[in-house]
Amino acid sequence: MATQEKEEAPHAVGRRVVLFPLPFQGHLSPMLQLAELLRARGLPVTVLHTDFNAPDPTRHPELAFVPIHEALPTSATSPDADIVAQLLALNSGCEAPFREALASLLRREDVACAVVDGQWYAALGAASALGVPVLALRTDSAATFGSLLAFPRLRDAGYVPIKEERRDELVPELEPLRVRDLIRIDGSDVDALCGFISRVADAARASASGVVLNSFDAIEAPELARIEKELSCPAFAVGPLHRMCPGPAPAEHGLHAPDRGCLAWLDAHPARSVLYVSLGSVARVDRGVFEEMAWGLAGSGVPFLWVVRPGSVRGGGADEPPNGLDEEARSRGKVVAWAPQLEVLAHEAVGAFWTHCGWNSTLESVCAGVPMLAQPCFADQTVNARYVTHRWGVGLEVGDVIDRVRVAERVRMVMLGEEGDRAREKVRDLKLQADQCVAASLAVDNLVRYVLSL
Ligand code: UDP
Repeated sequence: MATQEKEEAPHAVGRRVVLFPLPFQGHLSPMLQLAELLRARGLPVTVLHTDFNAPDPTRHPELAFVPIHEALPTSATSPDADIVAQLLALNSGCEAPFREALASLLRREDVACAVVDGQWYAALGAASALGVPVLALRTDSAATFGSLLAFPRLRDAGYVPIKEERRDELVPELEPLRVRDLIRIDGSDVDALCGFISRVADAARASASGVVLNSFDAIEAPELARIEKELSCPAFAVGPLHRMCPGPAPAEHGLHAPDRGCLAWLDAHPARSVLYVSLGSVARVDRGVFEEMAWGLAGSGVPFLWVVRPGSVRGGGADEPPNGLDEEARSRGKVVAWAPQLEVLAHEAVGAFWTHCGWNSTLESVCAGVPMLAQPCFADQTVNARYVTHRWGVGLEVGDVIDRVRVAERVRMVMLGEEGDRAREKVRDLKLQADQCVAASLAVDNLVRYVLSL
């Protein structure tokens, strides 16, 4: 889509777009950013949303918010829930209330189309059954979405479920991905995961008039082209959305209040001296891994700002670094429950980001020109980590086994070593390309034109 000549940016009036985000941090932010973007182009926007993890309407005065008032089982809302079971329960619990809320809007408004999170397979079908053109917003990368679309073929070819002896094989149609990088959720039933992925892919094929992705041509052009070919519908790579979005500061989309004190702490550090550590809004680690991370950070000698979400450490104990850490190591680090991540990444004191490679964090790091240390935990994070380390060369792996010696070595490598310097150079190139993409915003123009044509 980026190859098209730039015409005058379309500015719409009148026809409403209805958005339906999945109620998790990594999904809400890009959907609300898209909402602000469409609104700024003159499209009235209504956000239908669940009561569970509801967004705060007061932060978005230009948008209309309508709760669907779903009734959900605890399997859909508990932080301990199995993720696949949670996504299945959300879909089945929200289908009818979503349909009713959309039907009610249709009686009052001229709705141009709906944009629903791509994981809402039930809502994709429901909107289409009501005769509303519907687009799927993918909040993951084009590479991840492409791998989901390929899942039935991968299953037939024996790549999934992942077998120990094939882990290091490259997957021919998805290079640079290896079998071990394919989407997986440890602890979830493999058949349930494959069933969920099939529903998502089938709904996109059967119901979506287009796909919107939080990505951009400069980083994923071949992957985007593959999606358009496979779905025979347009794919609009409108990312990086947190940079495109004209509305409230992207941090305002958050479900948690950030600890802004860490910015003053960063101010007191020299340029590029601090490692920022965060595993996102969902991932949890075992107490043993957490301790090795802490001891590794201590052993590295590098100052660190570490986000430790309450409840993010499994297996008991306070979510505090181990007591055994000496005073010197403790004084070198700052631990917060939630950080203003975009501001942290933009701070000159930050030299690298130890990340789980959630797609938002990956894009945010790229756009800030900060190299990464990749520790993927589950879902699409393995795909993103592989692209970070082997396609774009903007980060290093922590490795499969998190032990203190290896952690200290990798932290020093990314912060102080030549490997880190090379990754820093490459990520700065990508940042420039992201800046150019934001300045041009061709895909957003194309999306608005398409919405108006539906
Ligand atoms: N985030 C934040 N403060 C934190 C940790 C995370 O603002 O302390 C934000 C981060 O900027 C990103 C989102 O939470 O936009 C996490 O999304 P991502 O896709 O990276 O991972 P997920 O949480 O979905 O696993």
